[in-house]
Amino acid sequence: MTKYTKFQPWLDWLDQRYDETLDRLKSWSAINSGTGNIEGLDRMRAEILTAFAELDAQTREIDLPDTEAVAPDGSIAPVRYGKVLHFSKRPQAPVRVLLCIHYDTVFAIDSPFQTPRLIDENTLNGPGVADAKGGILTILNALSALERSPFANGIGWDVILNPDEETGSIGSAAILAEQARAADFGMLYEPALEDGTLAGARKGSGNFSIRIKGRAAHAGREFHAGRSAMVAASDCVMRLDGLNGKVGKATFNIGKIDGGGPVNVVPDTAVVRFNVRVSNHDERHQAEDEIAKVIMAINTRDGITAELHGRFGRAPKPMAGKTLALFEWVRELGHDLDLDIAWKATGGCCDGNNLAEAGLPNIDTLGLRGGLIHSDQEFVKLDSLIERARLSALILMKAGAGDLPDALKKTEI
Ligand SMILES: [Zn+2]
Repeated sequence: MTKYTKFQPWLDWLDQRYDETLDRLKSWSAINSGTGNIEGLDRMRAEILTAFAELDAQTREIDLPDTEAVAPDGSIAPVRYGKVLHFSKRPQAPVRVLLCIHYDTVFAIDSPFQTPRLIDENTLNGPGVADAKGGILTILNALSALERSPFANGIGWDVILNPDEETGSIGSAAILAEQARAADFGMLYEPALEDGTLAGARKGSGNFSIRIKGRAAHAGREFHAGRSAMVAASDCVMRLDGLNGKVGKATFNIGKIDGGGPVNVVPDTAVVRFNVRVSNHDERHQAEDEIAKVIMAINTRDGITAELHGRFGRAPKPMAGKTLALFEWVRELGHDLDLDIAWKATGGCCDGNNLAEAGLPNIDTLGLRGGLIHSDQEFVKLDSLIERARLSALILMKAGAGDLPDALKKTEI
């Protein structure tokens, strides 16, 4: 610990933030901010703006354009989003860091899971406590410590808080990529595992819908005139499932089939929805080719048309090069805070994939320690509230003091 005496006063300063942070985490958890709840996202954003005012940063609220999705009845419907929050300070500084996390949750406005609850003195259960409202508070605390320190002048930062991560960041992807290109490294605040382990390499992921049209007919009077979209959808599902094991380690998961209706009608519409995970770019391109072949095969069925919607929203995030150098540096810093920083590969993905695709080395699980996210058992460990803020504050102060590892410094031309 003595190694960091010059940073110690601001690390210690964070201790006094515990009560305020816990209060905020509870009250923010009780605000529903499911991705589709635009009014709830507005309320959450107002809370964040109030809390972040102490940083005295340049602040923007950015509207996102609607995108399109295939509705269960096969029609194309618009998707609306909340706004992106952007805070920026010292953009001209010699080192620039991008801090990101989402303020939406997976819990819809009508979910039964709406309130936080202490399970024991060190465990808080509640929607978004780990994923990722605790992460937003970790950013706030770490930046607040940095700004009080003399090392702030050496580092400029941008914070992006997006409203659509839980549905794949389709609306905010362009903003994430733009900000990633301007930074030297990225810090993202998805939760760490309960024991503090971070996510290392991540798979890439794509969500797709296949819209299938046939021809309706009365099942009794003119069955043979009909062309069943449901039967074509079943064929499509079996072909997609058959790709498992054929494209490297890529997985094809059929999540949902919409379609059909009364059993006395040959159904004319069906929608097949599926997710694909890939470990690398080759698998991604092969998977795209194979999906295209399935679409072609379904289109050869008499009276049937199939069309593909969706795409790979997340590229794979390999653990190599500058990203690996960043992890090794953070492991060293953690060691000096008595934290054992380990990481392991995961099939999950997050905006860390997007930042990596834009060329930004990043660590994407700098948020609180917790688990069982996306379920009503979601929890955080409260002894990580200040612990994780200290880790981030140390990273920021070290970078501001010019102590970045060589691999992360801008290469001079
Ligand atoms: Zn998350």
